[in-house]
Amino acid sequence: DRLSSVFLSNTNHEENQPPHLQVADMALQKSSEHDIYAGPSTRYCPAGVYEWVGEGADLRFVINAQNCVHCKTCDIKDPNRNITWVPPEGAGGPNYPNM
Ligand code: SF4
Repeated sequence: DRLSSVFLSNTNHEENQPPHLQVADMALQKSSEHDIYAGPSTRYCPAGVYEWVGEGADLRFVINAQNCVHCKTCDIKDPNRNITWVPPEGAGGPNYPNM
């Protein structure tokens, strides 16, 4: 999709490591008209990692973890401390192409 092609950071995550982005309580996604995820995470994330897709009953919250550029903003700015971000293992940070 468009976000993936624009923001893909070519990060390499170890195959056997747990996800580096974890949302403690996914039920919060449905609360208060998405104020938690439509608020901090989707506003502050520069890479389109947090995304609402679908409409009505099909509306769902997805985490495009492969797009993460490891800025840690979502963890720092999440007022509910519902997002846990840990550095990927193996020094597998973003690999930006020469621009
Ligand atoms: Fe988005 Fe940065 Fe959080 Fe990754 S660490 S999900 S790029 S805000």
